[in-house]
Amino acid sequence: MEIFHISAECYPVAKVGGLADVVGALPKYQNNAGHQVRVVMPCYDTKFRKENDFECVHWGHVKLGNFNFPFNILKEKTDSLGFELYLVEIQELFDRKDIYGYQDDIERFLSFQIATLDWITGRSEIPDVINCHDHHTGLIPFMMLYCHKYEKLRNIPSMITIHNGLYQGQFGFDKLYYLPEFDLAHVKVLEWDNCINSLAVAVKCAWAVTTVSPSYLNEINYYANGLESLFNLVRYKSRGILNGIDIEVWDPAKDAMLEKNYSVKTFEKGKQENKEKLCNLFNLDPTKPLFSFIGRLLEEKGGDLLPHAAALALSENYQQINILILGSGNKVIENQLNSLLQDYKGNYNTFIGYNEELAHLIYAGSDFLLMPSRVEPCGLNQMYSLRYGTIPIVRRTGGLRDTVIDFGDDGNGICHDQATVGDICYSIQRAVDLYDDKKHLNKIRKIGMNTDHSWERVCQEYIELYNLIINKK
Ligand code: ADP
Repeated sequence: MEIFHISAECYPVAKVGGLADVVGALPKYQNNAGHQVRVVMPCYDTKFRKENDFECVHWGHVKLGNFNFPFNILKEKTDSLGFELYLVEIQELFDRKDIYGYQDDIERFLSFQIATLDWITGRSEIPDVINCHDHHTGLIPFMMLYCHKYEKLRNIPSMITIHNGLYQGQFGFDKLYYLPEFDLAHVKVLEWDNCINSLAVAVKCAWAVTTVSPSYLNEINYYANGLESLFNLVRYKSRGILNGIDIEVWDPAKDAMLEKNYSVKTFEKGKQENKEKLCNLFNLDPTKPLFSFIGRLLEEKGGDLLPHAAALALSENYQQINILILGSGNKVIENQLNSLLQDYKGNYNTFIGYNEELAHLIYAGSDFLLMPSRVEPCGLNQMYSLRYGTIPIVRRTGGLRDTVIDFGDDGNGICHDQATVGDICYSIQRAVDLYDDKKHLNKIRKIGMNTDHSWERVCQEYIELYNLIINKK
């Protein structure tokens, strides 16, 4: 089967969060399973772009209303990622350091989608299925169905995978003329709440809709930033498929970013060495349990609760625990987290920013990983921490509900129901007690390390769904 994945991110080419990890791994496993898989993404000014060789396989012009942007399709020459990688180079729009956050993001990602479809339409072979990811690619299913110049793609099944339904790519109808020509009888399809809503359009037009966990599929029926009723309507073509993790990239036995590699047989010593390295780097006490957080510092992740929870837990357990935060996002939260540095020196530290290498070391060297998320469509951090023998402390929501079971129920982690300072601190207290019972602690760590979250199994669920929609043709 020939599969196209179209995405704004893909690890290790360009990453902001879990979307990149998924698009960097799922295609590789699909390719290994015998399918021909291609990933298409924008060409940002990243290290990967500079350090790898590309050849231009197509070029053209994107017409976006009155704008005209030249573009190139660049193929990575050696398929080093385990699938064919194509970058859509539109220098004026994407030759920038950051992936998102520009005033012209609508123009950027719309141009990307148009250039991608121009190229795919012009190819001699037609793919079997096009898998779009999140709102940045949400207009593709619409354009395939209704834009005159993509008529050739009308019968190709498209699928939208929702990694985060809170972000929807809305814009005004004043930009309608950006879209390639289509029969205006279909204009209503673009509308949601008086805007063009890219995610809603994808959900309406795609042949199948997937979320990245089964629980998140249930949750978006009542919490989806205004799209709840739409998700209810399309339930018949929706499926929740739990993400996997790339067990080659995330392998404590081989991970080159660790101080010491370890397996389920040697984890006690291995984790301790990584912890010592981490504690050295951040002036923490390696004899005390280490609680860490990795992620975007936003309300969605419970980031606003962290400063209060950290202060309370540190004062209740004075000099008995360490807390380490790696992340960035909301400036108020960042400042609040940094304001605790003085009071809890030696037991608390932060790294405000993004650091892939440090994240790996934290998964390995921590005892517990905090994830007090309000919304978590799947969450990969808890799966990485399980694989590295670090016990996740999670709020029961979305994919966290599907992957972490409380140790009180013979599970692999610590769970709480509310995204509140009280619930977080209560869970930290349970963790402190557990830490003192090394036999029990190690038993739970082993359960986590032995859990199979690999893509091999999950990737088959995607293939089954593609087959289902292909057979609908
Ligand atoms: P998100 O909602 O951000 O996509 P996920 O749990 O699905 O959350 O994925 C987060 C991914 O991003 C993980 O690979 C995690 O290690 C990584 N990550 C998040 N923030 C940082 C950071 N500040 N530094 C390094 N890696 C980070």
